[in-house]
Amino acid sequence: MPGTPDSAEYLSFECPNCGGTTIEEIMIDVTVSTSIALIDSDGHIDYDMDQTNDGGEVYRFQCQTCGHYITTDGVQAPLNQPVSKIITDCDELAKWLLKQPYNQEKADDS
Ligand SMILES: [Zn+2]
Repeated sequence: MPGTPDSAEYLSFECPNCGGTTIEEIMIDVTVSTSIALIDSDGHIDYDMDQTNDGGEVYRFQCQTCGHYITTDGVQAPLNQPVSKIITDCDELAKWLLKQPYNQEKADDS
């Protein structure tokens, strides 16, 4: 399949909490535009899947399965605690992933 990531070059993720392998990016202050397909007389709206996002900033990265968010020290603190350790930057996320044992071979390669 074209565009399939070569697993030798890409970093893996394993959630420290549940072992999930998918990271999701949570954004705030984003403007979302969605096309409306149908509106009935009761005001019920059917949306198209067509959606665009504009602006916004990364609020955190987290495990898609359990919502465990990724911090520089790996410690899960409540979200209202100091946020300086919550990773919000892709470079920082890559650096954090490179430090994880399951990515050590890739760290040695580079
Ligand atoms: Zn998880």
